[in-house]
Amino acid sequence: MIRANKYLIKGIVQGVGFRPFVYKLAMDYKLNGWVYNDSNGVTTEVEGEEDKIKKFIYDIENNHPPLASITSIELLSSKKSNGKYEEFSIRKSKTVDNREALIAADTNVCSDCLRELFDPKDRRYKYPFINCTNCGPRYSIIEDIPYDRPYTTMKYFPMCADCKKEYEDPLDRRFHAQPVACEKCGPKVWLTDKTGNEIKCDNAIQKAVGLLKDGKILAVKGLGGFHLMADPSNEKVVKELRRRKDRKGKPFALLSPSVESIKKFAIVNKHEHEILESIERSIVLLKKKESSAIAENVAPGLNEYGVMLPYTPLHFLMLKGNFDALIATSGNTSGDPIQYENKNALKSLSNTADYFLLHNRGIVIGIDDSIVRSITLGNDKKTYLIRRARGYTPKKVTLQGEYESGLAVGVELKDTVCLNRKNDFFVSQYIGDLKNLKIYDSFKKSIKHLKHILEANPKYIASDLHPNFYSSRFADEQKALPVFPVQHHYAHMASCMADNNINEKCIGVIFDGVGYGADGNMWGGEFLVGDYNDYKRYGYFDYFKLPGGDVAVKDIRRIGMSLLYEAFGESLFGQDLKVNKCLKEEEITVLSKMIEKGINSPLTSSLVRIFDGVAAIIGKRFEVDYEGQAAIELEHCIDKSIGLDNKYEYEINEDGEEAVVDIRKMIKGIVQDTLVGKDEGYISVLFHNTIIFIVAEVLVKMRKKYKVDKVVLSGGVFLNKYLVENTYDILTKNGFKVYTHSQVPTNDGGIS
Ligand code: ZN
Ligand code: ZN
Ligand code: FE
Repeated sequence: MIRANKYLIKGIVQGVGFRPFVYKLAMDYKLNGWVYNDSNGVTTEVEGEEDKIKKFIYDIENNHPPLASITSIELLSSKKSNGKYEEFSIRKSKTVDNREALIAADTNVCSDCLRELFDPKDRRYKYPFINCTNCGPRYSIIEDIPYDRPYTTMKYFPMCADCKKEYEDPLDRRFHAQPVACEKCGPKVWLTDKTGNEIKCDNAIQKAVGLLKDGKILAVKGLGGFHLMADPSNEKVVKELRRRKDRKGKPFALLSPSVESIKKFAIVNKHEHEILESIERSIVLLKKKESSAIAENVAPGLNEYGVMLPYTPLHFLMLKGNFDALIATSGNTSGDPIQYENKNALKSLSNTADYFLLHNRGIVIGIDDSIVRSITLGNDKKTYLIRRARGYTPKKVTLQGEYESGLAVGVELKDTVCLNRKNDFFVSQYIGDLKNLKIYDSFKKSIKHLKHILEANPKYIASDLHPNFYSSRFADEQKALPVFPVQHHYAHMASCMADNNINEKCIGVIFDGVGYGADGNMWGGEFLVGDYNDYKRYGYFDYFKLPGGDVAVKDIRRIGMSLLYEAFGESLFGQDLKVNKCLKEEEITVLSKMIEKGINSPLTSSLVRIFDGVAAIIGKRFEVDYEGQAAIELEHCIDKSIGLDNKYEYEINEDGEEAVVDIRKMIKGIVQDTLVGKDEGYISVLFHNTIIFIVAEVLVKMRKKYKVDKVVLSGGVFLNKYLVENTYDILTKNGFKVYTHSQVPTNDGGIS
């Protein structure tokens, strides 16, 4: 029997080769009918034998093009038919008011394009902007929707006859690939000195490679913005890059042509290999090899490198056959947003880069590389986001239920924003620290841009409870919309619930830097219970003082002193500890007075600050130059030969209503071990284990009291691989259902 069925396919189905795919599929199954794009997605009517239509739909669902992602296939109508169509055709796109089509994220160059890139017989041989419907730029070039060439930065490049032919041929891999281009008609690269004067040469890319080999620093325009590139085996140039970027200890990311090359300096397991090669092409944190050609100052004091594979043809042309790795760090000066426009980059990076490799394909909005790591939860390997940007934005997070459209403005330090359309939530790319005026501008621009391309019309704003965050102040300034301030750690908890589509009461273990607490103190070691409507703070790490407030966040000796004071009173200030010896006598006097009297010493329960204090007490580090540095170094020095059951003592004081974790015994243990000369790897692992056991013990009490066994783990401290993996294990063994982040980061980048 012959039927004619009409379907609406929703999801990321435009600009990803979907219609040609449907067309070919219809040919294969000898079905007639048509397919077109509209603002809701892709609509198709197929006519033919029922079992063939079934197979056709099965293939659409299961064998679609790599960049497509289907959220629903809806059967709009089904009729008996006597053969009204004679062929299958791709019809012209229709525009419908209610735009629900989704925009794809930027994607790495596909294997077909890569083959052509290095094929001397191909007409795009060595053309640095080769792309097709399966690959290339998307989000970074879209100015408006629908996703069509005139609404992208490709509008300035009229297609040549050859490109046009491919663009219009439904059976071509480049059918309706909006960024399609070639040497004749498309964008170009050129090289300039730091003042913007073009350096005439036959091959700008080859010339750039030579300069990098000579120890020069280059600003290279890529897909989402500029990178600063340099040779990582050249200690002198790395040092110079640190000086020019005003970047002391923070590691530089590496760009490497192949996994084979990466294995020369880092250890890559099977899962890490997969995520390196995934279409998002994130920076992946990988364990360093004992010795390699990479200079020590690329990632000082750490046992990991952040490494990514090339994702643009330009990167491949630079790296392949030339380098095993290049430093590819965000093209900005300290604290500024990533540069993405030629003119501004030349202005702002002229003291940082020696040369500029520029191109003229416009970038609509700057977008950094994403950073991920592989973690093991039970028997599963999982990709864990640290920074969510290129390759992920604007992928959505879908929740069950209906939600009014809102805007969440996030936090201040690692900010992202989020907008929703019904139950689809769109988190922006990583924006950064809003205290920088230029970043605050890109925060505002990101909100405007997302609102525009998503056609979202928020009816309210959610902000952080902290009244002085730039994001909170921005929210308050939008007079037309009601603002709902949300406590920071409760937002972390809700974010992890949303990430896992949990819509019921659960427990939240939220370990963090600092967030503004409901009682006005600086929270950060919290045990919460609640749902999307409300929460209760059941437990926390007992408050200690942060002498000097923000000053202590950098000068962590102060935190060490504060924890010592809590545990011993003044008696330990003169003892033979490194942290004591690196303070002058009068500093100790002033500090002890501040701590004792609570002068300019806000109270905190923050886990990151506890890590800081412990690092200072054992003499690992006294000063941090980026958030979380001490915690990362403590994690990296863990002695893994020591089992989980080795830990320090602690107390949990519970009165039936709340539980307060007292770590003074742990601090005493750490001091004792330090004084007898135990090494830092030993102390660090015992310290981590203590935290893990504390979580397990508090949670058993909470389960008893609240009859809840679902647990979400969130907050920046859970970026710590040892901590998240072992906390997961111990809780799972204790019968809890444990959830961690997958779609957004566990740090403040996930808050919005
Ligand atoms: Zn391609
Ligand atoms: Zn062309
Ligand atoms: Fe946080």
